[in-house]
Amino acid sequence: MAGFEEVNYYFRRAARIMDVSSHVERMLVTPFREVKVDVSITLDSGELGTFIGYRVQHDRSRGPMKGGLRYHPTLDMDEALGLASLMTWKTAIVNLPYGGAKGGIAVDPHQLSDRELERLTRRFVEQIHDIIGPQTDIPAPDMGTNAQVMAWIMDEYSKIHGFSPAVVTGKPVDLFGSKGREEATGRGVVFAMEEFLKDVGGGEIRGKRCAIQGFGNVGSWAARFLHEAGARVVAVSDQRGGIRNPEGLDIPKLLEHARRAKTVVGFPGADSISNPELLVSDVDVLIPAALGGVLTKENANDVRARYLVEAANAPTTPEADEILTRRGIQILPDVYANAGGVTVSYFEWTQNIQQFTWEEAKISTELKRYMSEAYATLSRVARERRVPLRTAAFIVAIGRVGRATTLRGL
Ligand code: NAD
Repeated sequence: MAGFEEVNYYFRRAARIMDVSSHVERMLVTPFREVKVDVSITLDSGELGTFIGYRVQHDRSRGPMKGGLRYHPTLDMDEALGLASLMTWKTAIVNLPYGGAKGGIAVDPHQLSDRELERLTRRFVEQIHDIIGPQTDIPAPDMGTNAQVMAWIMDEYSKIHGFSPAVVTGKPVDLFGSKGREEATGRGVVFAMEEFLKDVGGGEIRGKRCAIQGFGNVGSWAARFLHEAGARVVAVSDQRGGIRNPEGLDIPKLLEHARRAKTVVGFPGADSISNPELLVSDVDVLIPAALGGVLTKENANDVRARYLVEAANAPTTPEADEILTRRGIQILPDVYANAGGVTVSYFEWTQNIQQFTWEEAKISTELKRYMSEAYATLSRVARERRVPLRTAAFIVAIGRVGRATTLRGL
């Protein structure tokens, strides 16, 4: 798991290079608001289910706060703080008119029935409806949540505040969601990877051997787009375990298997591997797309990939980042690599506000433009300052958030 301190470590490393004063540093790091609520519900069995919900609103100097809702048993305030701050820097890096937020519920959604999940979500909205809104804080899907959960949020919020599709993004397309939102993060990862490999001398995606940890929204869409771009996806995993085929997995068939079996495990024509083995497998590109904090000082020396593309949020601890960088492994950082999701969320929000819809081709073209422009800025700053891309990303973000904060005045 990755917490607030880990993100702040990267923040401070960049802030020092920029000569940011310790007062301003403290102001930028300190969250605007932290909320912890009880979300008890009656379970189908008639028993009481008690759960804790979180919403951290980190910074609002550049616009309404934006960030996902995670339903995962290990979620706590520290992780919500880290992820919320990451959203502040991420939205600034892709230059979206947003601040950062994150939250969710400490729960394993797979242990609940659909009705329980709906009750839990509606109860959560009852508890936080007065701090979210289309111009204040706009949630979105993250681990363990999906378009259906977003639909319940929109409905519950609208009962209290009137019809408000723009209060949440990642909704079903039939309920004012955006075309292309579901696949946006995975698609953005592949756009980002294309720019990155070209820039650091890694060549094309075609032919690259890739390993992906996580086969949920982000991992499975990334696998599909990589496969379409001619990469060889040789290993994937999920919570239950992993699979490997050095010749390359048949991704369309694997997607079908995972849809039926609800796991990648047991896919015919592949060997089993564990999650720890996947992280150190012999590939060109390693793509963590599940939990945070999976690359640590314990396994960073064993990573064999030449490129690390952080599709997950905060997959690399600061110690691991240092080891990997020292070993010459090129890192495409999370704050940029997975920004495709929030970028298309922004397109969804603007469509909702304008009561207008965009075609998928436009979404994809605009997403590519945002990802390319952001990469060009990161790459320029990295070269000018002679720093890794992660530090460059934080330099860009701190500059933008800092200027907005100063211009607005205290
Ligand atoms: P998801 O719930 O759709 O999928 C998560 C995947 O991770 C599943 O395959 C699950 O089995 C696997 N997983 C869970 N615990 C694991 C463990 N201990 N070991 C190995 N695998 C495990 O979630 P998602 O939306 O795909 O999010 C994945 C990552 O991407 C998260 O870090 C999230 O913050 C980040 N992210 C998501 C979005 C988005 O739009 N959904 C946007 C930006 C970043």
